[in-house]
Amino acid sequence: MDCVFCKIVNGEIPAKLLGETEHSIAFKDISPRQPVHILVVPKHHHRNVAELAEAEPEALVDLVRLGSKLAAEYSTGSFRLSFNTGAEAGQSVFHAHGHITSTTPKSA
Ligand code: AMP
Ligand code: ZN
Repeated sequence: MDCVFCKIVNGEIPAKLLGETEHSIAFKDISPRQPVHILVVPKHHHRNVAELAEAEPEALVDLVRLGSKLAAEYSTGSFRLSFNTGAEAGQSVFHAHGHITSTTPKSA
């Protein structure tokens, strides 16, 4: 499957990895739109967060927990977690992922 996030999960293309669990990985967004912009991604391919919730709810909980842990590590702990779902909502990579964004990096 020609999926950029599956390739990152499989180590076929590089990413700045920030964390990993049994179900999820996290890496820096290649084109950050906030001072902190981390993607949290299930290891298994699902097209969007709704399909992830139906197919593997435990992986969605794991993703939220990993994102929240990294938000505490890289920001002051206040963060936004968003899931674009569908092309018209701005989804461009059709492998479920959450955007962890924060305007307040830890060092700031
Ligand atoms: P979305 O528009 O919600 O589907 O988000 C996709 C996100 O993936 C965008 O913010 C992109 O900047 C990011 N992205 C695309 N390719 C890569 C990559 N190879 N490594 C890291 N982030 C990526
Ligand atoms: Zn994929």
